[in-house]
Amino acid sequence: MKCITLAARPEGAPKDSDFALESRDVPTPGEGEVLVRVHYMSLDPYMRGRMDDAKSYADPVPIGGIMEGGGAGEVLASNDPAFKPGDKVFGMFGWATHGVQPAKMLRKLPDGLPITTSLGVLGMPGFTGWYGLTEIGKPKKGETLVVAAATGPVGSMVGQIAKARGLRTVAIAGGADKCKLATETFGFDAALDHRAYDDARALRAALTEAAPDGIDIYFENVGGKVFEAVLPLMNRFGRIPVCGMIAGYNTGALGGTPGEGPDRFPVFWRNLLVKHLTATGFIISNHWNQYPAFLNEVAPLVASGKIAYVEDIAEGIENAPRAFMGLLEGKNVGKQIVKLI
Ligand code: NDP
Repeated sequence: MKCITLAARPEGAPKDSDFALESRDVPTPGEGEVLVRVHYMSLDPYMRGRMDDAKSYADPVPIGGIMEGGGAGEVLASNDPAFKPGDKVFGMFGWATHGVQPAKMLRKLPDGLPITTSLGVLGMPGFTGWYGLTEIGKPKKGETLVVAAATGPVGSMVGQIAKARGLRTVAIAGGADKCKLATETFGFDAALDHRAYDDARALRAALTEAAPDGIDIYFENVGGKVFEAVLPLMNRFGRIPVCGMIAGYNTGALGGTPGEGPDRFPVFWRNLLVKHLTATGFIISNHWNQYPAFLNEVAPLVASGKIAYVEDIAEGIENAPRAFMGLLEGKNVGKQIVKLI
């Protein structure tokens, strides 16, 4: 089998030499385990954190270890009665063409939808958007929501669910094409290109027009300039589900370098205090008990086309590192996937 391992811990943005393409023997499934040929693997921003040797909510990938990640594929051999060869499954096989997992760690995929949906719109990222918005954002009809990385699998789910619940939805995305995708495919009421504004102040001025009644929910995916632009526009009793901050993933982990510019915490705390804001961080792996509720609600909407999704599919495991580096720079258009077969 082929796999991608972590060759070196990146300093700043990852580069080619931080990854290695290796050939290894196909693993043999033990008692209660299942061997899977991975057809599609997922690339996600959290993988950048796994490359750092820093304590976070999950352990880092060791040097020489297979990069972590989820994939969808077909069972080749099973030592558990719940699975048989030919079954389509999702599991955490890493960046690899084959993987062995205990049967209880696998999810059988339903017929009728492409298996790639288990990586994006109906997988971890879509669930993250749905959970963060509904449980933490607590959307109410007539409110205004802003989300960045708006055409990705998390942001596009957030925008579509919010729109369906009667909110005004404002997308922030990188480039004119992604802004068009946000309004035309994902139904956002307005879209702003964060790259078109030199600083937070200029972006804030544009946001003031796009969100004339202020912002009730800011779904935090990126941090950085976008967060700085949004904060003063938050309404009283606004909610901020803190989902990610991809603008800072290359600059250091917890306790690392704070990033450029002056200390913004006084502004943050003061907005929180004076406006009774609620900012709640969450890691979706702690909330899998609600995944069936998500699937019940959203899978039929995806099947009927009421929830749209866009996938960006790179070809071949050898191209996974480049596709991942592109994801961190916003080169992906929609959910980033790698086709392995
Ligand atoms: P995306 O597919 O949307 O990819 C990331 C996007 O981030 C890029 O395409 C780019 O979009 C945007 N981006 C990158 N750098 C910047 C920057 N400096 N400023 C603004 N935007 C930037 O990712 P996902 O939908 O998979 O994930 C979105 C966020 O949700 C991430 O922060 C991720 O870590 C987080 N997440 C958190 C989870 C949790 O459990 N808390 C679970 C899953 C995801 P553009 O070109 O439009 O700017």
